[in-house]
Amino acid sequence: MNKSKRRDVVYEVLCSTKSHPTAEWIYEKSREILPSISRGTVYRNLKELISNGQLTKVEGVFEMDRYDADVETHSHLVCRECGAVVDFSPYDIKSVIHIGQLDGFCVDEFSLVYHGLCVECNKLSDVNKLA
Ligand SMILES: [Zn+2]
Ligand SMILES: [Zn+2]
Repeated sequence: MNKSKRRDVVYEVLCSTKSHPTAEWIYEKSREILPSISRGTVYRNLKELISNGQLTKVEGVFEMDRYDADVETHSHLVCRECGAVVDFSPYDIKSVIHIGQLDGFCVDEFSLVYHGLCVECNKLSDVNKLA
C-alpha cells in the first residue's frame, strides 16, 4: 500500500460528502475502505491535502476542525443546534466582496459564516413552540 493510495482514500471520503465532517468522521469512513489505515495517517494526509490546496477547513466555528473538499470560495450556513454545515452561494461573492487591496491589506481569501437553525432544527423548534 503506497502513500498516495492512502491519501486518495482520505480525499475520496471527503469528496463523497457535503456534510463538512470532522477528521474523526473521515477516519471512520476511511477505515471502512482501508481497515489498516491509522488515525495519524488520516490526520497527516488531511494536512497534506490542505497544503496542496485540494481541501479547506471551515475555520473559527467549531472546537473541532471541519473539512471541505470544495475549495472554491463559498459561504456556509451553520446550525447552532445540531452543527450542520451547509454550503451557501447565493451570488458570486467574489464580485460582491472585493478581493485585492483593502486599506493596504492584501486580501486573497475570506470566509463568511451565517449562524442560525437548519431546516430540521427549525421544524423541531416550531414543534416545541406548539407543545
Ligand atoms: Zn440543525
Ligand atoms: Zn463548504
